[in-house]
Amino acid sequence: MPHLMHLVRWLCLEGEDPALLCAQHRELRRQVPLLYALLSVNALALSYTHFAFAPRWMTVLVPGALVTVSIVRMAAWLRPAAADVPPERIVRKLRITTVLAVVLALLYVIWALRMSAYGHSDERAHVAIFIAITVIGCIFCLMHLPQAALSIATIVTVAYLSHYLLSESAVYGAIAFNIFLVTLVVARVLLNSFAAFFDLVRSRAELDRLHRQMTILAHTDALTGLPNRHAFFAELTRMGQERSAGGGDLSLGMIDLDRFKAANDTFGHLVGDRLLEAVGQRLQAISPAPGMIARLGGDEFAVLVPVPASRAMAIAEDLCVRLSEPYRIGDLVITIGASCGVATAEDGEGTHSLLYERADYALYYSKESRRGLATLYSPQLESSRLSEQAIEAALQSCDVEREMAIHLQPIFDVASGRILSVEALARWTHPLLGPVRPDVFIPLAERCGITHHLTTRLFAKALGHAARLPGDIRMSFNLSAHDIVSHETILALAHAIGMSGLAPSRIVFELTETAVVRDFALARESLHLLHTLGVRIALDDFGTGQSNLGHLNELPIDELKIDRSFVSGPKADGRRHLLAAVVALGQSLRLRCIAEGVEEADQLAHLKEIGCDAFQGYHGAKPMPIDELLRLISGRETEGDGRRAMRS
Ligand code: C2E
Ligand code: CA
Ligand code: CA
Repeated sequence: MPHLMHLVRWLCLEGEDPALLCAQHRELRRQVPLLYALLSVNALALSYTHFAFAPRWMTVLVPGALVTVSIVRMAAWLRPAAADVPPERIVRKLRITTVLAVVLALLYVIWALRMSAYGHSDERAHVAIFIAITVIGCIFCLMHLPQAALSIATIVTVAYLSHYLLSESAVYGAIAFNIFLVTLVVARVLLNSFAAFFDLVRSRAELDRLHRQMTILAHTDALTGLPNRHAFFAELTRMGQERSAGGGDLSLGMIDLDRFKAANDTFGHLVGDRLLEAVGQRLQAISPAPGMIARLGGDEFAVLVPVPASRAMAIAEDLCVRLSEPYRIGDLVITIGASCGVATAEDGEGTHSLLYERADYALYYSKESRRGLATLYSPQLESSRLSEQAIEAALQSCDVEREMAIHLQPIFDVASGRILSVEALARWTHPLLGPVRPDVFIPLAERCGITHHLTTRLFAKALGHAARLPGDIRMSFNLSAHDIVSHETILALAHAIGMSGLAPSRIVFELTETAVVRDFALARESLHLLHTLGVRIALDDFGTGQSNLGHLNELPIDELKIDRSFVSGPKADGRRHLLAAVVALGQSLRLRCIAEGVEEADQLAHLKEIGCDAFQGYHGAKPMPIDELLRLISGRETEGDGRRAMRS
């Protein structure tokens, strides 16, 4: 009984694998029309040979009806089918085919066997041949639907075997038995080849599944589950092409987390990873549809949305706010921020790579000047991006020896007015662009990866100047964030000092806090190395960065350069009392305090009052070439000698 149920279920194609059904359908579409053609031709041939012997209804009406049904079914199978016919429809179609094939086969065989009552031995032999070739042809054509093939074989075999074995002719009995044996063999071959076909379909489906899985993995960021850089650029290209063809807006927002690196360094990489996961979850929760949010790598994300600038800015501002809400990671509560740059290609203008460059530039601007906020790419940003591009190109091919110089700005002792040291400041005059400010080209050099080259050449020039200065005057040199985390640069600087013959204690390296915190551990290592050589370290622009007192303790700092916003300029008046506090703090930590940007006499008087050690600024002297500085020094010496002579 269970076997019978199993057989019935098999015959009804119940529970068949959808992939197998699709493959069967595909193969049958090529073969079933051939089957109907074969049946029709064979039927016509049999009618033709029996035309003179059998009644008209047997040679015209019956085969006419059978051939008509066959042609209708052939046409149904030849109709173009949709690429993805649902499995339920395929099952229905295959069931109908099985039933119809069985009914037709039965009608054909009954008709053929009835025909054997007419004609002579040749005509009767034709009937036997008709049955043999038709049944074998049917089995072959229905190879991919074994349910139909075996049903036909069974019905036809039962019919002709009983007919011929019951007839008196031993020859036809033998022929029938022979056909039966061949049918058995062909049926076995069919089952074998269907099993092989089934295996092939299954392994192809498995291969497809693996391929799909691999594609998903290759396009997904493992940590956050968001689409990765690869998927993002593919989508940007796709949406960009769609927009340029059909018009419409496309906005791109680039997001960079603020203070993520510090959190990662402070709490460790495991916490850092969980923080990124949490950021990913927040981003996924606000994922716009249509559009995409992806992780491009590190703490950088991107949002791609087919909306105009105003809507994109609203999304970006919302993202910045949501990403700055505190994160609970285990027992820790961590607050970071996010800055965003937005660019829009309205009505498909521009290429997608230009859109990326613009959004990236707007992000860079946000990071530099509007931290924690979203910045929309504007015509002003466009002109500064273009001029930066020109400067960047010029910088790449810059001949440092010829185009760049070092100017020196004296740093004076507040009490005595004596020159204690000079700060080396880079000057670049490009043959076409003219003078370019260091605070413009130094960050650009960092972005295009030529900082090492620039720093080492400029330092060599600065050392050359320092060697011409009186032995009691030190020289300060500025290091950038990239310099301080590059072992190669630090070793090159140490080597250059050694080769110059100057006492390392005459060299001061100036660093901003922002540069130090980019990779605090590495920066600390480099500073300790330089300090061990005897070089002095100054914290530059103090008061503008994080002003983290921990840094003052952990780093080998000798000098504090208090930012000029405490001394001169619009904010200075309100910060005067702070200046006194910073000086007191510096002195309590035994750091020499240097006030920057002293432009007027009363500012110097105030510094004297609060006991600041040294000052730098236009009130003392502007940065100048070495020869001018040497003249200034010797002039001051002569002046000093004169005053001493007058007093004596
Ligand atoms: P900084 O280290 O804070 O250097 C002092 C800047 O303040 C210099 O600008 C100087 O000309 C200017 N300055 C001096 N006294 C006064 C004053 O009384 N009032 C005003 N308003 N400004 C004053 P400069 O030379 O344009 O340099 C800008 C920045 O570029 C420097 O800031 C420094 O961070 C960077 N820089 C310059 N040369 C180099 C270098 O060789 N390497 C690196 N990494 N950075 C450099
Ligand atoms: Ca400086
Ligand atoms: Ca400074």
